[in-house]
Amino acid sequence: MRAKVVQIQANDPQIIAPCGLNCSLCRAYIRERNPCPGCRGSEINKSNACLTCAIKNCKELAAGGHQFCSSCDKFPCAELLHLDARYKAKYGVSAIGNLQHIELARLVIESSIIHDITRA
Ligand code: SF4
Ligand code: SF4
Repeated sequence: MRAKVVQIQANDPQIIAPCGLNCSLCRAYIRERNPCPGCRGSEINKSNACLTCAIKNCKELAAGGHQFCSSCDKFPCAELLHLDARYKAKYGVSAIGNLQHIELARLVIESSIIHDITRA
């Protein structure tokens, strides 16, 4: 049996979920029949677990206008720690580690914008 080639779309911010997981690595996203559109996509073909996810539906996320949990004041909250422990044990992936990289990139971009404005 031929192994399926997984295309990682890490350069598309829409494919990275608020929790820091990369949806393009999920088997529901890459399956040929009824693929999931990803955490930020429409509700079509999504599992119940994704539709009811406490992180995706978190009030702090919406109220704070956060794109990712990493900019939330409660980061890393108990929900996120629980998810992180589960993914580390099962897949060797850290959602919190991903979010730390995302937050660092955001701060670097913000500080370079401020630098450009003050030079202008
Ligand atoms: S755990 Fe929740 S926020 Fe993260 S990808 Fe799944 S549905 Fe989206
Ligand atoms: S870190 Fe926790 S409280 Fe903050 S937006 Fe994410 S899930 Fe919600």
